[in-house]
Amino acid sequence: MTLHASCLCQGVAIEIDGPVEDLVFCHCVMCRKAHGSAFRARGRVRAKDLRWVRGEGLVRFYESSPGQHRGFCSICGSNIFTKFSEAPEVLGLALGILDDDPGTRPICHVFVGSKAPWYEIADGLPQHESLPPGYGTAPGGEKRGA
Ligand SMILES: [Zn+2]
Ligand SMILES: [Zn+2]
Repeated sequence: MTLHASCLCQGVAIEIDGPVEDLVFCHCVMCRKAHGSAFRARGRVRAKDLRWVRGEGLVRFYESSPGQHRGFCSICGSNIFTKFSEAPEVLGLALGILDDDPGTRPICHVFVGSKAPWYEIADGLPQHESLPPGYGTAPGGEKRGA
């Protein structure tokens, strides 16, 4: 199954020929600011599964913490995906740009210790203060596909 994704202005479009896994809601401060929202919804994709349809040149990257490069459309500001210097084989996809249902569903909330005070988590998903075991940790940040 090929999944399609695009930014708000439609200048950037990608296709994903593979699974979107480890869907999480990240409440860290960087994700809240980057998305202008209560949290970031992201999933992990394999870099080799991503294919550019158009707009690769429109994507700018901001290194929000060492080795983590957040990609966004330079025209409309949509978050696209995050690249990781230490794990170039995976990307952290901003789920909001998906035009198709990936079939997978969020598994947990991460970095709830940084949650916005005005937002109450009202679902029954597990909540982690930082990252669940196996994700590795980065001070004040996220790693490996977050
Ligand atoms: Zn755009
Ligand atoms: Zn985050």
